[in-house]
Amino acid sequence: MNYVLGIDIGGTKVAIGLVGEDGVLYHQAKIPTDVKANPEDVIHQLFGGIDTLIEQSGVQFEKIHGIGIGAPGPLDSKKGLITCPPNLPKWHDVNIVHLFKEKYKLPVRLENDCNAATLAEKWIGAAQPNEDFMYLTISTGIGSGIYSDGRLISGKSGNAGDVGHMMIDPSYGTCTCGQKGCWEWIASGTGIARQGSELLGRPVTAEEVFTLYNQGDLSVKEMIEPIFTIIGAGCTNLINAFDPEKIVIGGGVSKVGDPLFKVVQSYVQKYALSPSGRETQIVSSGLDHNAGTIGAAALLFQIEHAIDNTCSR
Ligand SMILES: [Zn+2]
Repeated sequence: MNYVLGIDIGGTKVAIGLVGEDGVLYHQAKIPTDVKANPEDVIHQLFGGIDTLIEQSGVQFEKIHGIGIGAPGPLDSKKGLITCPPNLPKWHDVNIVHLFKEKYKLPVRLENDCNAATLAEKWIGAAQPNEDFMYLTISTGIGSGIYSDGRLISGKSGNAGDVGHMMIDPSYGTCTCGQKGCWEWIASGTGIARQGSELLGRPVTAEEVFTLYNQGDLSVKEMIEPIFTIIGAGCTNLINAFDPEKIVIGGGVSKVGDPLFKVVQSYVQKYALSPSGRETQIVSSGLDHNAGTIGAAALLFQIEHAIDNTCSR
């Protein structure tokens, strides 16, 4: 069996794992991220964690064919740089690909974490049969991955698919990015928690808002249902722009399940412009919390043909 080392860099931890060519995560570890530490120190700590993982796994180093890294954007996947992610404030223009290549002498690819998760959906998730689909994650923010004509659309610097800052309704107020009415300002978990807190007059999480919603709280229902419609409107924008066969939705907010998916599906059926667009399937992600690590490994494994990325050359 051949393996790829998948690395999923997050704001609070880095998940590392040895993923087999069958898409199974065989060995994994989680390393806490100190956002205040220098990135070079964090990376050296990572090297230590990786060496220990490989040693304890019993996998021979020769069986590891490469390293895939998923990281929060903005980044520059073509240059191998983590540019300036908001949840890793000290990471400015860190050439993570170069550092990993120097240390392990293996091919290394970097993509934003959402694009990596998109490849995991194609590899082992809900989009295996599809050559045209979108992955949408609705959690702290909203992000997407665009898989079109059989390949991941990465953009000039690897930041394509940042649809959370697509303007949807300026009446909802000013987003953290400065623009009014961004999709994620309204419909992300953070946005739902903010509006729920304003409604209830106390700080609540999105999860608590959904608990009240499931209990039939009328005022919460009046707040949430327009947000489901707004998720449907955003999906319709994506369908009109990219003509996918399917939109796979993951992330914490998608866990509310049927009530959301029914509203989105019926909005799309009504308002997508083309007859084929109106038939776009809206489905939930088939992957669990390991999707980030598996997606990072997918950057190397089965998608060689599907991505044009100069990092490994
Ligand atoms: Zn915004």
